[in-house]
Amino acid sequence: MTQQLHRACDVVVVGAGCAGLATAIAAAELGLDCLVLEKAAKLGGGTAISSGYLWVGANHLHAAAGGVDSLEAVTAYLRYVGAGGLDEARMAAFIAEAPYALRFFEAAGIPFRLSPRIDHYGMAPGALAGGRILETPPIEASALGAHYDNILLPAGPLFRLGGATGKGGANSPAFWQAARDAERDRPGQRASGAGLVSWLVKLADARGVEIHTGQAVKRLTMQDGRVTGVVTANGDTIAARRGVVIASGGYESNAELVRRFEALPGWQSMFPKSISGDGLVMATEHGAAVHVIGNNLSVFLGFRNPEEAPGGTALCRLSGTQELPSPHTIVVNRHGRRFADESFFQAVAPALREFDVVAREQPNLPCWLIFDQRYVAQNSFGGRPPGAEIPPWVDRAPTLDALAARLGIAAEGLADTVRRFNADVGDGTDRQFGRGQSAWGLNRYAPSATLGPIEEAPFYGICLHPTALSSAGLLADPRARAACQGASDPRPLCGRQCRGAHGNRLGLPNWFLPRVRPHIRPCRGTPAGRRRHGVIRVPCGVRPFHRHRNYRTGGSSPHCGGAARRVIRDRLFSSSCRRSKLDIRPEVEGCAESERPARNGDEP
Ligand SMILES: Cc1cc2nc3c(=O)[nH]c(=O)nc-3n(C[C@H](O)[C@H](O)[C@H](O)COP(=O)(O)OP(=O)(O)OC[C@H]3O[C@@H](n4cnc5c(N)ncnc54)[C@H](O)[C@@H]3O)c2cc1C
Repeated sequence: MTQQLHRACDVVVVGAGCAGLATAIAAAELGLDCLVLEKAAKLGGGTAISSGYLWVGANHLHAAAGGVDSLEAVTAYLRYVGAGGLDEARMAAFIAEAPYALRFFEAAGIPFRLSPRIDHYGMAPGALAGGRILETPPIEASALGAHYDNILLPAGPLFRLGGATGKGGANSPAFWQAARDAERDRPGQRASGAGLVSWLVKLADARGVEIHTGQAVKRLTMQDGRVTGVVTANGDTIAARRGVVIASGGYESNAELVRRFEALPGWQSMFPKSISGDGLVMATEHGAAVHVIGNNLSVFLGFRNPEEAPGGTALCRLSGTQELPSPHTIVVNRHGRRFADESFFQAVAPALREFDVVAREQPNLPCWLIFDQRYVAQNSFGGRPPGAEIPPWVDRAPTLDALAARLGIAAEGLADTVRRFNADVGDGTDRQFGRGQSAWGLNRYAPSATLGPIEEAPFYGICLHPTALSSAGLLADPRARAACQGASDPRPLCGRQCRGAHGNRLGLPNWFLPRVRPHIRPCRGTPAGRRRHGVIRVPCGVRPFHRHRNYRTGGSSPHCGGAARRVIRDRLFSSSCRRSKLDIRPEVEGCAESERPARNGDEP
């Protein structure tokens, strides 16, 4: 029987991924009564099947390890990544607060650690070869109490148990051995994105946060121009005294929204079915503005492994970070031509959107992964260990001509492309697209590691599909408050915030890594969410109901007045800060300067 939820609380959080759970923990630390409503049967959303990495510039863990970073370097790096398209105010808010959010969650109980991963854009000013990407250590599901079996898990042991994204990734026999050992000895271990979600659930549970699965929020309730609560698909109405935080992810699994916002025919979702843009729809029904990142580079190529969902639809696997950077592979279009450096997914993305005005087509979609038997002998394919047999659903042929005929590719073009590619490989340089020479590629895979000839029969081919993180989200201010449509000086849609993938990130066209950072933000969620934040800010103590100076809206604002702000500030000092043993201080807008507590000495 479905549980009746009619009730009132301080904060309703829509969605239990990273952004939603982090928000709930922050709210609980503030002493707020927070209710998390999750549509799916399990917790975690896209976060649970992700790699779980966070990007935090100038963080204290890096400094403690002797690393050198600065806010200037972080800013220079993000500006490069943003390529003129980012919102300075949101970027500044993110840069300033992510390090505090990291400290907050660390103090709350997550033992974050540095990952050896490097900045994606090694060629950018301010880029570092390590120190900004963080991860959580594996956690035992037994620590989750009632939520033991309540976390969504990705297919295959590597992501679930850890190790898939270390150097060598799934091509490393050592990682596979470690995963097999873990599966045998520690079957309850959760790592990567599932690990991150597990840590967050543990913290939320310990703080008494009420989390309900199977509760899809259907619409927002409004009164006098402000959001007052939500109505669920079951018909329950929940009043939110302080606000509603939309943390329902993107819309990657909603074919209609994908068609409207993405120019990528053949799209397959790599996200769970529940990630369908509900928050976007609910908020726009009330006039919220949508922002689209026109040159989203968080686009990959991939394919479905039908064995991962017998009788159903498997999630699209990211080939762009697995098979494509490995040697003895190329990607070709229907003309049999390569079109990008396959080892650097950010270089592939713009080529997929290319448009031939005469032929009236995107010449590089569809496209195919071509590989040979030498690839099979040494590398992992489709989530199988290196050297495993290639499954029957992958086309193969004894010659390239025969393979081209099977796949419907121009045979002459393919033969010519492979001839040219093999000659370049022999010389150690891909003259056409510089494969392996990008700073990212070079650091992770030396050119020699990504270049290998395609010459040993049989030859294999599989159609690749674009799969991406959604480009559109709700427009929000630096406090993550959703803005109304049509205003030149956008005003917040009162009582509602957006976080995580649901928001529109920082406005960075190339935001894959930056998006990771928001994971850490208790209230901000993912990069997309940064714009939608606003209600509860964790690092500097949360400026709950804080009003951004550019968005003052007068008395109709849901943000609390002076007295209420003082209550929240007092709560912060008395509970959250002391409990976390952090000097997390509230920064309360509207307070006189003298009332404001000084920041930590080590605050950047
Ligand atoms: C393979 C892979 C690897 C990735 N690796 C990384 C990485 O290393 N670092 C990184 O930063 N990003 C990574 N990403 C992207 C990352 O997963 C997302 O950006 C992130 O998970 C978004 O977090 P979120 O909390 O906003 O949304 P989600 O984690 O997707 O959570 C949204 C939740 O809301 C729920 N929901 C939806 N609609 C409703 C509704 N109507 N009512 C109630 N609940 C609802 C969903 O079921 C879901 O549980 C990766 C993605 C993939 C697929």
